[in-house]
Amino acid sequence: MSEPIIAVESLVKRFGGFTAVNNVSFKVDEGEIVGLIGPNGSGKSTIFNMLSGALKPTEGSVKFKGAEIGGKLPNKICHLGIGRTFQIPRPIHRLSILENVVVAGYFGQDGIGSREQAFDAAKTSLEMVGLPTDHGVAISTLGAAGLKKLELARALATGPKLLLADESLGGLDNSEMDQAADMLKRIRSEMGITIIWVEHIMGVLMRVVDRVMVLDHGEKISEGLPTEVAHDPKVIEVYLGSDSEDAQASAESGSGN
Ligand code: ADP
Ligand code: MG
Repeated sequence: MSEPIIAVESLVKRFGGFTAVNNVSFKVDEGEIVGLIGPNGSGKSTIFNMLSGALKPTEGSVKFKGAEIGGKLPNKICHLGIGRTFQIPRPIHRLSILENVVVAGYFGQDGIGSREQAFDAAKTSLEMVGLPTDHGVAISTLGAAGLKKLELARALATGPKLLLADESLGGLDNSEMDQAADMLKRIRSEMGITIIWVEHIMGVLMRVVDRVMVLDHGEKISEGLPTEVAHDPKVIEVYLGSDSEDAQASAESGSGN
């Protein structure tokens, strides 16, 4: 078998005395779409922050294509081929949609040559997510779904081999959620990008991913095919436990944050 694209071993993140991620290990093979789900506060974004270099792991190892990247700087990790979206989009409002994506390309691609090349790469990313590629279209024209698409375009413009997509469905209605899921499938099939996809709800994610991992209080409590995981008593307890009406509502409705 070929080497996994990413292998996480015994990853721990503590903030002071609080353990946000506790001894998490997993592997993802090239070409997979893997879901990482769990209630709010279970440690999903913290794992992404460690994989992308925004946070240093307290303990453990992160190997990307066989090489240790744990604790490396975000720009280094991005150059190596890991792109990410942020749960809360923070575009540069003074710049246009196209310019925002161009800036991401300059950040993420070491060898980006000419200005023309940077704009071409940005336009390709915008086309992939279905946003306008014309010069000068303002960020203010985008709603919640548009801002999520812009996050994806910015991550794609960095030229990733592995995409970490954080809560890409937050704040979207049902048809927008279906669209976003289709988009992730096309990003894999047309661009050959491996994807780890974080959501706190199961919803549409379970129909798209090859495999799913479930976090609760910083620990991985389940992993497997979506159908297996959905029937795992530990997962049902976390999502549908009698003291967890919020989780139940969000698991059923597939609504955002
Ligand atoms: P999720 O993305 O699953 O909703 P997070 O990874 O954002 O959860 O957070 C996991 C836990 O770690 C939460 O209790 C959160 O409050 C805490 N946490 C996250 N980032 C920090 C930080 N920089 N400092 C202190 N606590 C944090
Ligand atoms: Mg989060």
